[in-house]
Amino acid sequence: MNHQTYHLKDYTREELVHILKQMGEPHFRVTQLFKWIYQKGVTDFSRMTDISKISQRKFDATFIPSSVRIETWKTGRDGTTKYLFRLSDGRDVEGVLIPDPPRLTLCVSTQVGCRMNCAFCKTARMGWVRNLRTGEILDQVCQVNALLRPQRRITNIVFMGMGEPLDNLENTLKAIEILGYSDGLQFSHRRLTVSTCGLVNKLVSLGDETRRFRLAVSLNAADNDTRSRLMPINRQFPIEELISVCRRISLRNRERITFEYVLLKGINDRPKDAMMLVKLLSPLKAKVNLIPFNETEGIPFHRPDRSTILKFQEILVHAHLTAMIRESRGDDISAACGQLATASCS
Ligand code: SF4
Repeated sequence: MNHQTYHLKDYTREELVHILKQMGEPHFRVTQLFKWIYQKGVTDFSRMTDISKISQRKFDATFIPSSVRIETWKTGRDGTTKYLFRLSDGRDVEGVLIPDPPRLTLCVSTQVGCRMNCAFCKTARMGWVRNLRTGEILDQVCQVNALLRPQRRITNIVFMGMGEPLDNLENTLKAIEILGYSDGLQFSHRRLTVSTCGLVNKLVSLGDETRRFRLAVSLNAADNDTRSRLMPINRQFPIEELISVCRRISLRNRERITFEYVLLKGINDRPKDAMMLVKLLSPLKAKVNLIPFNETEGIPFHRPDRSTILKFQEILVHAHLTAMIRESRGDDISAACGQLATASCS
């Protein structure tokens, strides 16, 4: 008997067919397993009634069905809930559920910590610890769905939690593939958004894979000096290279790349910055999310005042750029953008 164990949610259909074949199981078991695990949220093999008792016992001895568990959660005034997920090695990551009817969006993590060192981000203070496995990314969705069942389920996923998704590219892409399975959670590309700080080399290597999800680029400045100060990755991949690769990304009709712009008082919030942003993005199919900074202990930036934020938006809109102000969600529970960091964060 083969005593090797497998984390069930780490595997694509193709990989699982191969593993099941080695176990002497027919390939249609994959569909059965996916339906139980992802659609019905059943992880106890003895409850999988269309699978024979012999196979149930084999699976029980071979597969680890869950990769994370929810340790705690906290809901803020606006209904945003922050989850602390415990991984099997005892590490923690966070995720945030944002109700925005009819959407219910989960922001998932892809790494423990992050090595990109953005100056305005609390996760960056943790440094990089490790990449999440595919199953650890997916299980954040499954565990939250299990809590929401049967009334509600997650409708949208954004890869914007802890970590840089393209720095854990292989596992992120596998998770996206599995999220799309028709016998699984059935997420279409429209309901999956991957955010990157601008890893140009990874964006280039993606090719047509970008059609599996929507892309968001965390831009935050339209000139290299400011951006390099805020985001060290800009020294390796300056704005011109980032914009050039964005221009080459194949987009469907009416689809646009979202550019995230965290507004920081006195740093990137002047009318001059807005005008530079217009010039930079006008040639692209782009929309802009303006995110007024959430003041966070230990991070030396401030939120601009309301009139500055509105003026900035007005300049973009006047130049025919779609620009939305994304008000902070969950800032009272440190669940807002850039505020995710677990207790291990110094
Ligand atoms: S903003 Fe994103 S990419 Fe930058 S350090 Fe934080 S988690 Fe990493």
